[in-house]
Amino acid sequence: MGELEPGRRYGLKTRLVRGGLKRSANQETSEAMYLTSGYAYDSPEQAEARFKGEDAGYVYSRFGNPTVSMFEERIALIEGAPVARATATGMAAVTAALLCHLKQGDHVVASRAMFGGCRYVIEEVLPRFGITSTLIDGRSLDAWRAGVKPNTKVLFLETPANPTLEVIDLRAVADIAHKAGARLIVDNVFATPILQRPMEYGADIVVYSATKHIDGQGRCLGGVVLCDEKFLKEHLQIFLRNTGPSMSPFNAWVLGKALESLDLRVRAMCEHAAAIADMLAREKNVTRVIYPGRPDHPQHTLASAQMGLGGSIVTFEVAGGKRGAFAVERALKLVDISNNLGDAKSLITHPSTTTHFRLTPEARAELGVTDSMLRLSVGLEDPADIADDLAQSLKAI
Ligand SMILES: *Cc1c(COP(=O)(O)O)cnc(C)c1O
Repeated sequence: MGELEPGRRYGLKTRLVRGGLKRSANQETSEAMYLTSGYAYDSPEQAEARFKGEDAGYVYSRFGNPTVSMFEERIALIEGAPVARATATGMAAVTAALLCHLKQGDHVVASRAMFGGCRYVIEEVLPRFGITSTLIDGRSLDAWRAGVKPNTKVLFLETPANPTLEVIDLRAVADIAHKAGARLIVDNVFATPILQRPMEYGADIVVYSATKHIDGQGRCLGGVVLCDEKFLKEHLQIFLRNTGPSMSPFNAWVLGKALESLDLRVRAMCEHAAAIADMLAREKNVTRVIYPGRPDHPQHTLASAQMGLGGSIVTFEVAGGKRGAFAVERALKLVDISNNLGDAKSLITHPSTTTHFRLTPEARAELGVTDSMLRLSVGLEDPADIADDLAQSLKAI
């Protein structure tokens, strides 16, 4: 009772609340939390059958766990993906999605505007295993085409990108990948599965940091890889089982429950972010506002078509460079200084000295990450209070 019927089509909100639900004999309303590392077998024959894959039950929580399975099934249903596998963090998901199938001699083309950890894995970790890469300006389809080589196996991108909110044409890049016989991997954290489902545009693999909007309340780390059955069977499953970046059942329970309210939270955050972006654009100490939902965003048309709404992140530049940006951060009374994002609490960060500090000044300039730039993750507080806090802090410049 209360579980979704297999094969039947349900609306997104129903999938968010009930997807993957598997009740125990106790008929608990909330998903059960199976805090167990192992499973007992009825007989040695059953243990043998489990290991051979002839009996579908659980073997060991590094391989699978009922609470983690519920979370995986729910997020797969939301994304419209055949399967999902949960990982301990978003970075574990990205690393697994790359290393589970790439090998020595392979090549990756990636948009250079990406999360710092992803850039480290592609630029620093992959080359140690003989996997080379070309980083390009992901907004340019010509740059993607020019980056592809005969040994290119993966195109990797993030859209909108952190922190400059550049938008990349998913369908066009998926076509380029498939013509080259490569897979497209999309890090869909900023858009969330509520606004953008990259598989609908041809992406082969989608990864999330569930730490961000999926939890959305700053509690747990988590990650997800979504893919098809064939990729799971041939590459991902065996890699995850034997390298062990598993999600804890506790985190899976928190994140699975959080999915129930994801649509409501993301839509409210987007509405607040749109209002804040407009408010910032009217402030005299704000020199530039970057928000995909505003008509002055260079790719507003593409963003509207691909995401519908503008997202929950607003990036802006202030007068006075780094001193100006720091003055604003110091004067804030409600918004927290934090590099996390997608949280119910509004959070602000100065990318050039935090998330993008590891890059050379040239690499930052190439990305458009300036010293006067602030990235605001708009939360669920009253937008009028966030606006008041920003307005008073901008006076500190
Ligand atoms: C946070 C983030 C990650 C990494 O996720 P963790 O859960 O922190 O490991 C990857 N990509 C993007 C776009 C992110 O924002």
